[in-house]
Amino acid sequence: MPVSPALAPPQGDIWTPHAVRIVDVVQDTDDTRTYHVAFDDARQAARYAFRPGQFNMLYVPGAGEAAISISSRSRSGSPLLHTIRTVGNVTGALERMRVGDTFGLRGPFGSCWPLEELRGQHIIFITGGIGLAPLRPAIYHVLDHREDYGDVALLYGARTPDGLLYEGEYRDWIADGLRVQVTVDRADPRWAGYVGVVTLLLDRLPLSDPANTHVLCCGPEVMMHYTALSAFRQRIPAQNVWISMERNMNCAIGLCGHCQFGPSFLCKDGPVLRYDRVAPFLPVRGL
Ligand SMILES: Cc1cc2nc3c(=O)[nH]c(=O)nc-3n(C[C@H](O)[C@H](O)[C@H](O)COP(=O)(O)OP(=O)(O)OC[C@H]3O[C@@H](n4cnc5c(N)ncnc54)[C@H](O)[C@@H]3O)c2cc1C
Repeated sequence: MPVSPALAPPQGDIWTPHAVRIVDVVQDTDDTRTYHVAFDDARQAARYAFRPGQFNMLYVPGAGEAAISISSRSRSGSPLLHTIRTVGNVTGALERMRVGDTFGLRGPFGSCWPLEELRGQHIIFITGGIGLAPLRPAIYHVLDHREDYGDVALLYGARTPDGLLYEGEYRDWIADGLRVQVTVDRADPRWAGYVGVVTLLLDRLPLSDPANTHVLCCGPEVMMHYTALSAFRQRIPAQNVWISMERNMNCAIGLCGHCQFGPSFLCKDGPVLRYDRVAPFLPVRGL
């Protein structure tokens, strides 16, 4: 099993953003939208390919550039989607854009979820809030190759029912063989599901074969830390826990040092990393 499924850097001109046009925007929650974009240049569209877990740098002239995970199917011909929460300059500028507007995109960058290596294994996806976005391509991949994997489960938490992403897709995912459990921190009158932190779902999940169960996790660092502790209590080995890390990024190819995390550059060694390789650095303040 590799330490991190790092990929070769993207080929060609990795510095120049390519123009993409907004084809559709779906309002997922109050502050989060999913943007379907298409390259203006047909040759670039034909060339572009990514692996689940990778991200693009989205560039809005006058606002700046931000790292955003790809949240769509990685199968060629699928629409290219990014799910974006408005927090600052770039995401705010994107929020003001409309269908037909263009912005720049370079990528894909970074490591990916180790899906090829996990064939024949059981997988638990565990995430909170917008963390489902970088996991969605992996979920699609597993469901598109369902016979290659053992038991697969998604444990998903949000602050409130209104904060859940992609709610309309859960029914199809369940029909395709994904066990889905959803929890919220604060229920509302229409909520009939679990209430509490998402790691409780992992604590309670019956596992037939922990040694061959792998956890793919994305969320706030504290959530990923407690997820790892729950996994260990469930006797899942440390080397079977994978997380996706975030830090501010500038160059996205390991040159500028903005996203350095201990010995790793999260833009090229990450964002997907094996938990045991980064765990010693997680408690270090300021990293
Ligand atoms: C690999 C990776 C994947 C990511 N995937 C996604 C994704 O799929 N979807 C998504 O929505 N986000 C994603 N992010 C996060 C996203 O890149 C950041 O939120 C990014 O900073 C947004 O850029 P912005 O210009 O809109 O925000 P910025 O203007 O950079 O602001 C970001 C945050 O910093 C605060 N801030 C800004 N300026 C200051 C200041 N001067 N002092 C103090 N605080 C300040 C803002 O209030 C805000 O909370 C990802 C990040 C990484 C590294």
